[in-house]
This record gives sequence, C-alpha cells and structure tokens, in this order.
Amino acid sequence: MSNKPRILTGDRPTGPLHLGHYIGTLKNRVKLQDEFDCFFIMADLHTLTTDFSKDKTSTLKDRVRGLVLDYLSVGIDPAKAVIYQQSKVPQVTYLESIFTNLITVPRAQRVPTLKEVIRDLNIKQPSLGLLNYPALMAADILMVKANLVPVGKDQESHVEVTREIASTFNKTYGEVFPIPKALIGDGGTLIGTDGQAKMSKSIGNCIYLSDDTETVNKKVKGMYTDPTRLKPTDPGHIEGNPVFIYHDAFNDNKAEVDDLKARYIKGQVGDVEVKEKLSLAINKFLDPIRAKRAEFEGKLDLIDQIIDSGSKKASLESQKTLDEVLSAMGIR
Ligand code: ATP
Ligand code: MG
Repeated sequence: MSNKPRILTGDRPTGPLHLGHYIGTLKNRVKLQDEFDCFFIMADLHTLTTDFSKDKTSTLKDRVRGLVLDYLSVGIDPAKAVIYQQSKVPQVTYLESIFTNLITVPRAQRVPTLKEVIRDLNIKQPSLGLLNYPALMAADILMVKANLVPVGKDQESHVEVTREIASTFNKTYGEVFPIPKALIGDGGTLIGTDGQAKMSKSIGNCIYLSDDTETVNKKVKGMYTDPTRLKPTDPGHIEGNPVFIYHDAFNDNKAEVDDLKARYIKGQVGDVEVKEKLSLAINKFLDPIRAKRAEFEGKLDLIDQIIDSGSKKASLESQKTLDEVLSAMGIR
C-alpha cells in the first residue's frame, strides 16, 4: 500500500443516490481517489440499526449492487479506490466488540445523531445496535487506520467518538491507531425539488443519478419555484429558488443562466422556458453518467467481482490491524 494519507467514507445502501449526494460527496470522492489512498465502504451492517425487517434485509444485496453502479457511473474507479461491502469484512465486528468496552453508555446516548434518528423515525426505545452505531463506525474507520473521514455535518459527532475511542485505546494498550480527522465537505447541501428541505430520498424530493430523460423532464416540470410569482410578467426572486439553484449547480452555460436570471427578475421570462432549459442542462449533465452506467448495467458478475475484490483488500488491511490490536492488548 502507498504512503498517501488514507481516507474512509461511504454510504449506507438504503436506496439510489441522487443529485444531492453528487454535490455533497460523490464529486469530491472522484477527486480524492486520485490524491489519497481511498476506501469507500458500503455499510450494509449499519442499515440493520434502523432497517432490520426481513423485507429490508432480503433486498440488501441488490441495493449494494445498485450502490456500486451509482459509484461507477460517476467515475469512482475500483482500480484507484477500494470499494467494499462492510459485511464481507468480518474483522470489523471483532474490532467493534473490543471498542464497545472503551465507550460508556451515557457517552453513546449523548451523540446528537442518535437523538435525531430516534426523533425522525419515531423510535420508542433505541436498540443496543442503534446505540452502538458509533462503535461500529469507529471500527470501520480505525480498521483501515484512516487519517481522514469525509462526512456530512450530520456524521461529524460519530467521528468525534471514533477519535475518543482511538486515543483511549492508544493510551491503554499502546499506539496502534492514528487519530482520524473529519473532513466536512464544502459542496454544500442541495435543496430538494420541493424547495422545502434538503434533497433526501425519504422525503421523495429527489432527482436520482439513475433517472432517465423523461423522468427528469417530469420532475423539473413539477418543481417548486417562486411562490410569489403568479404570471410570467411578475418580477421573480432568484435567491432560494430551487430552479435557479439547480441552474447554478448543473447548467454549464453560464451566459444562459445569467440571461435567464436577468429576465426572471424583470418579469420577462416564463417558468416554462426556465424549466425547459433546466431539464436540458440536467440531462446534459447526466448523459455521461448514464453512458457510464450502461457499460456496467446488468453485468452482475462484473459488479459482484468488484465488490469481492475490494472486500478482500479491505479484509487484508483489517486483519493486519486486528493482529496489531490483539498483540498490543497482549491477547495474542
Ligand atoms: P435519507 O433520506 O435516508 O436520510 P438521504 O437522501 O438524506 O437519505 P443520506 O444517506 O442520509 O441520504 O446521505 C448520506 C450523505 O450524503 C450525507 O451525509 C451527505 O454528506 C450527503 N448528502 C445527502 N443528501 C444531500 C444533499 N441534499 N445535499 C448535499 N449532500 C447530501
Ligand atoms: Mg439523510
């Protein structure tokens, strides 16, 4: 392995990735894979903390494959980065079980993300698995001795727990782990097509990377714009208007965007034209992503091979770490 700093980040395979994921993390990952030693985890065990029903677990395998397709479509390259499936690296649960002893129950209960999940999903009592989420995530990160962990703001508190676990371990048994740093993306948060909340699959206000042209056209047509504007001749607002936020993010023709904005403010352009041009721009942005997806779509053997080969690499690294851990503790 190289001596470049190591990165761990990834996703829970809970559904297809959307334009928000692209802006918030995927775009950055494509860059990071050239500069760092990257591990991209498909964290299927983490989904059990909230989705443990048989209906959900029986579709996990397909969702993991879907996630690989999403990754490949945007240019994440298994020749550059290790793409792996968490459950195929059993060392992670071994390390997790050691780590659970280095964190107190009240500390785990104080993690703000836990409170949010309990509130958002209306969970009556958190399971031990859910409470333990930060210990499992610490095992993901420390297993490959990651130095940097690119995460959304919502995951920052988990990285903090990881840092505490790593330093407690090092103090107790000897220096094994680097203390990782969270890398909060500067891509910002993309608003949803409803203009009300961030783009999020559980809200259903998404344009997916896998949407076809017609679907994009339909979603853009139905997009929220400026609610104060009743006719095309009314002066419109640009700020906070999702149609223009998307134009800024995905339309590579800046002159066109400037012209639309100028006319919108003066009440000289209809929503129909603004949206038609947006559909064209998003489809133009998605076309190369679709072409890349088409290269891999339906090739289950190839996708499974990518998953297996990445998981083997992650497993090798993890075994090395686990051996060091057990030896530092004097167990082996
Ligand atoms: P869910 O609705 O199940 O919470 P989601 O669509 O919000 O799903 P997550 O899996 O929660 O997606 O997101 C994982 C990561 O992707 C976040 O930590 C964040 O970095 C990034 N991300 C998700 N949605 C957006 C968004 N709208 N804008 C920017 N980044 C996003
Ligand atoms: Mg979310």
